[in-house]
Amino acid sequence: MKKHYSISKGSKEDQHEVHTEGCKYLPDVFNREYLGYYSTPQEAVDEANLRHGSTQGCGYCCTEYKDEM
Ligand SMILES: [Zn+2]
Repeated sequence: MKKHYSISKGSKEDQHEVHTEGCKYLPDVFNREYLGYYSTPQEAVDEANLRHGSTQGCGYCCTEYKDEM
């Protein structure tokens, strides 16, 4: 299980991206939202989708999620 976070992407409030703890693209603590512990990025993306809509997994730290698509 890893901690997952969502962040706003760019200037669009409704576009979000999920990162896992330790990702080098994870912004500082003031610019991210804690989602919770999840065993797969897929679960974290689902949770972020419920909260914000239009959420994607990070291409760097959530690649296992993309491979399953
Ligand atoms: Zn990431």
